[in-house]
Amino acid sequence: MAYQAGRHFLQIPGPTNVPDRILRAIDNPTIDHRSADFAGLGAACLEGMKAVFKTRGDVVIFPASGTGAWEAALVNTLSPGDQVIAFDTGHFAALWAKMAKGFDLKVDLLPGDWRRGADPEQLRAKLAEDTAHEIKAVMVVHNETSTGVENDIAAMRKTIDSLRHPALLLVDTISSLASMDYRHDEWGVDVTVGGSQKGLMLPPGLSFNAISGKAIAASKRSLMPKSYWRWDEMIEINRKGFFPYTPSTNLLYGLREALKMLVEEEGLENVFKRHDRHAEATRRAVSAWGLEIFAESPGEFSSSLTAVLMPPGYNEAELREVILRNFNMSLGSGLSKIAGKVFRIGHLGYFNDLMLAGTLCGVEMGLELGGVPHRSGGVSEAMKYLTMQAKESSATAVSAQK
Ligand code: PLP
Repeated sequence: MAYQAGRHFLQIPGPTNVPDRILRAIDNPTIDHRSADFAGLGAACLEGMKAVFKTRGDVVIFPASGTGAWEAALVNTLSPGDQVIAFDTGHFAALWAKMAKGFDLKVDLLPGDWRRGADPEQLRAKLAEDTAHEIKAVMVVHNETSTGVENDIAAMRKTIDSLRHPALLLVDTISSLASMDYRHDEWGVDVTVGGSQKGLMLPPGLSFNAISGKAIAASKRSLMPKSYWRWDEMIEINRKGFFPYTPSTNLLYGLREALKMLVEEEGLENVFKRHDRHAEATRRAVSAWGLEIFAESPGEFSSSLTAVLMPPGYNEAELREVILRNFNMSLGSGLSKIAGKVFRIGHLGYFNDLMLAGTLCGVEMGLELGGVPHRSGGVSEAMKYLTMQAKESSATAVSAQK
């Protein structure tokens, strides 16, 4: 592609824009991972991630992409032949279920239409039939990155508990962690899977498991073969800030900086509000364009990305190509069965009002250039909303000073 001045707009729903502060932190010299200095870094990252997951339990960090942490959640808690429930709510939910099948788990993939979240009543019916407690785990993706649909994790736990069923609850938060409200302990999750390259504003390469006491107990019974992903050795050596194998030292520098920014400086609740605001502004733009949001139920709209349905006869790949070529912006593609039909606007991570305005400008100009039927004015609807929100937050700040 021809040279393009200025910053590329990376508006896929992860990997996300990495702040310069984090790049500078990663840029420090690699140190001895068995030194006292490293132990301080390891301990700070492990402790800080507990705040992000909202847990008092163990968190482990793998030098791996999110898929590795998916695998760790399964191989540490389950045994070959165990029954698990998964929901066909999107590309990533289906991929995780496929991985489970690969480990000889008996996966009951409950059908869904991808435009709605997992249905707790569907889960209730399955668990109620299982009086022998053959079902060992329920797997749910909190925020389905392919569809922009949020799943109600607390409702899943309530359903399991209301039947006094002992199934573990395994949750993927790869595209919601540190962007959308998430509470590992309060929602009774047994294993939460996270990744570095989205809300945490880091490059890809770290992934996480937050682990409940019940999941630790299950890991002692698990017969699944495992080595690299073993929790027990990891947790034991983590107590001193170290890792059982060579960690991603430089990404951990980045993680320590990200935790400072998200937890100490902005505050997680403010991070969530910022993501909610950008998601709402995006949806207002999409509605003003006369396009359809892929997620059907307003209570399930994702705050980290918005998937937009193309008008019939128009292909998202062509639109994204026009936008990339003309405006140097990457948007998310449609995945598997919605390829060609849906494009995704990522509005998560290191992101502010003007970056969102620029993103939406790129989409609106692309719709025009690509000849996609739409109404103009989406950007100005988003601007009106962002301005109103800024006015309200200035008024709140002034009254707090009085
Ligand atoms: N789960 C979700 C919800 C994701 O969005 C992704 C990647 O985008 C994955 C799992 C897989 O993670 P990774 O590509 O980091 O291995």
